[in-house]
Amino acid sequence: MNTEKSKFTFKGGIHPEYFKALTSEAALRKIEPPQYLFVPMQQHLGAPAKILVKQGDEVKRNQRIGEPNGHVSSAVHAPLSGKVSALTTVPTANGRLCPAVIIELNGNEESENYEPFKEWQSATEKAMLTRIAEAGIVGMGGAGFPTQVKLSPPAGKTIDTLIINGAECEPYLTADHRMMVEHAEEIHIGIEILRNVLGARTVRLAIEDNKPDAIQAMEKALQKMTGDVAVSVLKTSYPQGAEKQQIFSVTGREVPRGGLPMDVGCVVENVSTAFAVYDAIINGQPLTHRAVTVTGDAIENPSNLWVPTGTHYHHLIAACGGTIGHATKIIAGGPMMGFAVTGLDIPTTKTSSGILCLSNQRVTQYASQACISCGRCVEACPMRLIPSELSQFIEAEDIESAERIALLDCVECGSCAYVCPAHRPLVQHFRRGKGVVLVKRAMAAGKK
Ligand code: SF4
Ligand code: SF4
Repeated sequence: MNTEKSKFTFKGGIHPEYFKALTSEAALRKIEPPQYLFVPMQQHLGAPAKILVKQGDEVKRNQRIGEPNGHVSSAVHAPLSGKVSALTTVPTANGRLCPAVIIELNGNEESENYEPFKEWQSATEKAMLTRIAEAGIVGMGGAGFPTQVKLSPPAGKTIDTLIINGAECEPYLTADHRMMVEHAEEIHIGIEILRNVLGARTVRLAIEDNKPDAIQAMEKALQKMTGDVAVSVLKTSYPQGAEKQQIFSVTGREVPRGGLPMDVGCVVENVSTAFAVYDAIINGQPLTHRAVTVTGDAIENPSNLWVPTGTHYHHLIAACGGTIGHATKIIAGGPMMGFAVTGLDIPTTKTSSGILCLSNQRVTQYASQACISCGRCVEACPMRLIPSELSQFIEAEDIESAERIALLDCVECGSCAYVCPAHRPLVQHFRRGKGVVLVKRAMAAGKK
């Protein structure tokens, strides 16, 4: 194992103010559980899980309460024991409604774990993939893609490089940072397991150079690994944590337009996902809890919390001493890629990395103006798109033209909107435009 300074960095990107010092030294803290958990059946990309329980059922901690409903779907487990008080729908951070199981908690410690692997080194790849699927593990860095699907490349695709993403490039968020500092050894075992499942020759753990304590902790933990393994120290630059940008920064390989990491022999997994893999294989623990950063200048006691999924945002904010005065803006996730929310009765999921509460002083309200063709958005775009043109097509409802100039390649990183002097709502346009294209494609596929 060695440490290498990355030779590459992606084109474009920005350097926002990071505000990570608010919580970067705040150790993960367990919260008092709420009275109820509202456990969503869609905590992942793909079809929502199918509910396996009914009102009035007693459920044990870690009991499976939702089963995958298709190839791209994921299981859901009860994070804590209790009684199913209702089956309902709940709002999610992106504003959609989702089926959910409400559990009234009873404090019972009994749990229904899977059988731990005694000798995981000699377990078959299939057995470990099955466990990863059973445990409902999904990518915890963003989209929530089911991990067993990502670890099963189709025939003809060879994966030679496993990249573990510890960049956490979003301003304010420090949940992954604290996981690396406090759980380096568990993450190390998760990485060993992922390497075995994939049969990857090369392993790189990518961390930005603004997290020296995490670099040090992971260097120490990975010392025991043999073969082509390195901590890859990346220049701090947003969005260094985006998959395609990170693959380039670490390997110099460029994922082709419309392509996937596997097209260049890579799989990227987040550090918290590696921890979840460790927990599922070594402890038989399904994915039910995660680290969440609750922060911002409107939070009394900014913290990193260890949270059961299905916990309402208001409970987490109360666990951090509440807000200082009025929080003008509350964001699920970070300020660049997160979603502004209008209520706090939103449950956390396997992909909830943070809750950001900002005061009026931090939220600058600008009126959007006409594009002045300054080109700054083009320079900032890490996907080499032309954001100004894309947005003009979408505003004119000419979605086909936007699609033609690679709208779907937009990773919604927000770099273009950050630098735009006219304060154009660019990302909102791109999200809407992409939604139209995806619905159109789904309808066309349904007709076939
Ligand atoms: S167009 Fe998309 S990918 Fe490019 S900077 Fe804007 S949000 Fe990011
Ligand atoms: S940065 Fe804003 S004003 Fe400048 S070209 Fe892009 S969209 Fe237009």
